[in-house]
Amino acid sequence: MKQASTTCPYCGVGCGVIATHDGYTVTNVEGDRDHPANYGRLCVKGSALHETLGNHGRLTRPRVDGVEVDWNTALATVATRLADTQREHGRQSVAAYLSGQLLTEDYYVANKLFKGFLGTPHLDTNSRLCMASAVAAYKRSLGADAVPCNYEDLEEAELVVLVGSNLAWNHPVLFQRLRTAKQRNPLMRVVVIDPRVTDTCEIADLYLGIRPGSDARLFNGLLAWMDAKRRLDRIYLERHTQGIDETLAAAHQEDCRIDAIASDCDVDPERLETFFYWFATQLHVVTLYSQGINQSSSGTDKCNAIINCHLAGGKIGLPGAGPFSITGQPNAMGGREVGGLANQLAAHMDYHTPGAIDRVTRFWATGSLAPSLPEEPGYKAVELFEAIERGEIRAVWIMATNPGVSLPDANRMRRILAACPLVIVSDCMANADILQYADIVLPASSWSEKDGTVTNSERRISRQRGMLPPPGEARHDWWIISQIATRMGFGEAFDYTHPGDIFDEHARLSGFENAGDSTRPFDISGLAGLDRAAYDALAPIQWPVNATAPEGTARLFTDGRFATPDGLARLIPVQPKGPQQALSESRPLRLNTGRVRDQWHTMTRTARAPRLMNHRAEPFIEVHPEDAASLDLNDQQLARLDGAGGDYIGRVRISHAMRRGEVFVPMHWNDSFSGQARMGGLLAAHLDPVSGQPESKHGAVGLAPLDIGWEATLVLAADSDCAPAWCDDSTYWAYIPLENCRRWQLAGGESGSACGGVEKVPRDWLAWAKAYLPGEPALWAEDAGSGRLRAAGFENGRLCWWLMVGSPAELPALNWLDARFAEAALDTPLPSDLRRRLLAGCDAGEADAGPTVCSCHQVGRKAIVEAIRHGDTSVEALGARLACGTQCGSCIPELKSLIEEEHAHDHATQAVEAETA
Ligand code: SF4
Repeated sequence: MKQASTTCPYCGVGCGVIATHDGYTVTNVEGDRDHPANYGRLCVKGSALHETLGNHGRLTRPRVDGVEVDWNTALATVATRLADTQREHGRQSVAAYLSGQLLTEDYYVANKLFKGFLGTPHLDTNSRLCMASAVAAYKRSLGADAVPCNYEDLEEAELVVLVGSNLAWNHPVLFQRLRTAKQRNPLMRVVVIDPRVTDTCEIADLYLGIRPGSDARLFNGLLAWMDAKRRLDRIYLERHTQGIDETLAAAHQEDCRIDAIASDCDVDPERLETFFYWFATQLHVVTLYSQGINQSSSGTDKCNAIINCHLAGGKIGLPGAGPFSITGQPNAMGGREVGGLANQLAAHMDYHTPGAIDRVTRFWATGSLAPSLPEEPGYKAVELFEAIERGEIRAVWIMATNPGVSLPDANRMRRILAACPLVIVSDCMANADILQYADIVLPASSWSEKDGTVTNSERRISRQRGMLPPPGEARHDWWIISQIATRMGFGEAFDYTHPGDIFDEHARLSGFENAGDSTRPFDISGLAGLDRAAYDALAPIQWPVNATAPEGTARLFTDGRFATPDGLARLIPVQPKGPQQALSESRPLRLNTGRVRDQWHTMTRTARAPRLMNHRAEPFIEVHPEDAASLDLNDQQLARLDGAGGDYIGRVRISHAMRRGEVFVPMHWNDSFSGQARMGGLLAAHLDPVSGQPESKHGAVGLAPLDIGWEATLVLAADSDCAPAWCDDSTYWAYIPLENCRRWQLAGGESGSACGGVEKVPRDWLAWAKAYLPGEPALWAEDAGSGRLRAAGFENGRLCWWLMVGSPAELPALNWLDARFAEAALDTPLPSDLRRRLLAGCDAGEADAGPTVCSCHQVGRKAIVEAIRHGDTSVEALGARLACGTQCGSCIPELKSLIEEEHAHDHATQAVEAETA
């Protein structure tokens, strides 16, 4: 067995991982105690990393027009078709759409090929959906896309403001670091600003449940309040900034009395003023923000409203202080560094940076080989797909992302892709939704195979190391791109033999004609010239890394000099704007979207670990109890959302965490895991005019119960090759992988009757089973009166399916049944007690533990509630009894809320009893 230190690919924290492997399989992972991002911690996704690997379900052969081909044919076809498209329709008729999943080296080569040698600026990335507004705001204000802070600043702050960030679920290790720091320093305060009460509130001293989209009004109000209370740092403003007068004037255009701001933000005025007071009176303040701020049609302004308050108070460039945008993806930062956004050129230089086009042209030596570099920025994400719709772009190469799921107006984006003359897809997974639109499929390597670097949210460059060979004929992205560049005649500029060659070139470009002053802070020239051994051994380091900072740079702008031509930061006047997606009579609810704790993006990888599916097994809709009551909705009932671009079906979760009039859906589910559960289909494509980032947090939807006649659970042997045709005749389906089998949750029976009402259509389950399922229906127990049914089918003595018709609330824990699917053959004839247990789907006395709360130890909600009721009323006591919360700690906020819920329940019961007495 060998060990390799690498990084986790499941979020922008960028935790260090020690992976144990034998050269073919990763058998274990643990947190790297020496990595400064996590010091040994891992969250549940990180600790399940090795369970999300494996060659099954991987793309292993290139395909052209649906036919498997060898690499030579695939590469030559891509090169020919791209060249033909450019010849017939112009240089800018080809485009690329990349992903924050790519390594920096992959990104660098793609950017160089498209902008430098194909001469098209249309290369953008799914990071546009995540943090483009934060980038635009940093550039407007600080002069560069340069995150000033680091993770230690969160620990050193006196006040941490978490706004638009469910840190506990989306960046769990950072949340754990913050919680520990707060335990160590009881004077530290944490404020959470979010329309939803999330698990992050576990450590909040103050919670502001603001009206969605009112963030800029709140931070403008804070700035005006600081001004009124003489809490601006006039000396800092004078020496290091410009624009305070115009910015204050803009803030004062609205009523700046606390009551007025509180009313607009829909929060309690006293709480609001407490936040203002805390912010204004502390110097060491970090405001950490994420997609809740960025994913808005005025996201850039919101980010600038936050940065304005930090500049105005001099709360930047100090330990424990600064506006801190945290990224979602593992290498969104690396993509930004190489120029992977359509408005960037390369190495943090923009098209309009004086001399940049000439400088990059000379560095890449494109002159004799290729046309000149484009002179203007390209289309950003949604614009890029709209250009395909207009026929302006006729070929797109999509790498490691599913735009038909994640872009707003996703159904339209799918139609656009279907009509695009040439779609090339590089991906590692065979079940990626995007593949259905691909003319050419290129199988790519994945985590544990890929070798290169990533940059996390605190500017820290780390090695992601390759350990295993890619399966079949899968290849690294940088190799695929370089090979195609070579076949297009640019071989001289793409003769890389190792990712270290690419990193060296990237590092040299960052330092090329860079004076090393503050105007081009992205400078890693200190890492240029590493030989293979030094590149392999590269330890995590924060940029800039150059002659003046050979050990890297923990914190930026400490001298108050910013990356603007005059060194002064800009305060940006902001006029608050509401969401662009208008509510209406038919769509009266505000839609919020986001991640769940145990899944990553479109689930193609995390769903491979069955234990990660148990926390939230089906797509859901979180609803406030009063909204649920007014719409006649019950908890766990299926319901339909109607949005601008389509419908979404999910299971209702009634939750006091929601504000009235608002609903929340997860972003993960797609056509591989459910019918009609793509949140992108609910959203209209409204964009931030500066950053081009879509308004994904502010949809407008209608909600109604799904009128169905039946619900069923089908469990099928994992190796059964029958196609899931049952999905086609179900109104709702969700696919849930288990350890030894596959589960489908089904519902249907909805149909419009001739007289216009809804008729519940009963199903002939025996005929259905014979039509769709393999083997013989050997066990059958049906209650005609209630419509309930339990049945099981066998093939060669082996259990091959199990069916329950009825509410999923009646489902037992499926562990026992799951294990039966692993057995080669069951006893025949089946003993009566085995028949009984098979029909029940569980062993005698096996209690259903409920939905999983602790994914590490698979501890369910019901078991935890029972333990609390028996007196285990602390996280420690629950851990001692059930082991929950004792490994990665990701479930601790949920354990605490369950304890609180039970506590509240006890109080309510006692009050009722007292009243009755
Ligand atoms: S917080 Fe979790 S998902 Fe994010 S990098 Fe660390 S281990 Fe991976």
